[in-house]
Amino acid sequence: MPQSIGFIGLGIMGQPMALNLVKAGYKVTAYNRTTTKTVPLERAGADVASTPAEAAKDADVVILIVSDTAAVEEVVAGKEGVFETLRAGAVVIDSSTISPTVSRKLACMAAGKGAGWLDAPVTGSKHGAEKGELTFMIGGDREALERVMPVLKVLGKKHIYCGQHGLGLAAKLAMNSILATTIAVFAEGFLMGTKAGVSPQTLLEIMQWSLARAAIVDFKAPFIFKGDFTPYFPLKLMHKDLELAMETAYAQNVPMPTTAAVKEVYGSAKAQGKGDLDYAAVVTFLEEVAGVKLRVPGAAS
Ligand code: NAP
Repeated sequence: MPQSIGFIGLGIMGQPMALNLVKAGYKVTAYNRTTTKTVPLERAGADVASTPAEAAKDADVVILIVSDTAAVEEVVAGKEGVFETLRAGAVVIDSSTISPTVSRKLACMAAGKGAGWLDAPVTGSKHGAEKGELTFMIGGDREALERVMPVLKVLGKKHIYCGQHGLGLAAKLAMNSILATTIAVFAEGFLMGTKAGVSPQTLLEIMQWSLARAAIVDFKAPFIFKGDFTPYFPLKLMHKDLELAMETAYAQNVPMPTTAAVKEVYGSAKAQGKGDLDYAAVVTFLEEVAGVKLRVPGAAS
């Protein structure tokens, strides 16, 4: 059973995930590019590494959760990266949402070192990470997955095997296309209804009693009504996922015209400087164009 974990990336998601592993009794060696973010881990009893290579050196399992494809390539295959020290028999779990093609390439490079590689992106956001209730979508070798399952069970409540390398990511990109589109079209419908004179709260009540009901709208609407765009999943990362979804679609000759349009809406909000807000702030771009806001006085999130 794996005991020693190298953990790389202590952002919104990585910080609570790594803390849960320490609480579960694993020996965690944590690395983050910005060193101040390692302080809570150190306080909780983790060791701190000054490079990704140092975090991976004695690890049975290396977990990555960094921003994007370039960041994963850098921490894994760059100077002082994981591949410099990764042990034969170790397994890398990459929970970052990145290009499935690059992920497959990195899985081949890991195999060349006798190590396993799983693409294991997650859904469940900051709350799911804090509660250890993430859902994992997993691609790669089943035997490697079984070996690391005790670790994944600390982090998540549901683990869905999707098939060969890259397919966890393909599933994740499909899911995020749907989430991003749902929030954008929610904004369009609600802005039209609100400008016509129906209150956002009445529209939400109707939606919740109709087949249009969506869990993501139930979750995000109270924050939007309050104008609270504290980032749980930053808008710039959702835009990145829409770009990755389009690349994946083009490669397979699958048209995604709706997602393509939605990607441009998120890109416009990002260009306005909203990239570090929660992705629900895409609503504010459409509000400004429509000249009406989805705010409800006294709304509680
Ligand atoms: P975040 O808070 O922005 O954290 C990003 C992490 O990546 C930070 O630790 C950052 O280090 C690190 N990083 C970025 N570029 C790097 C580089 N070149 N070298 C080394 N480290 C680098 O993002 P997050 O929300 O935790 O998301 C992380 C990943 O999980 C993303 O792929 C995202 O799409 C995915 N995800 C997020 C959510 C969510 O709800 N937030 C849900 C599911 C999946 P610094 O601290 O030094 O900047």
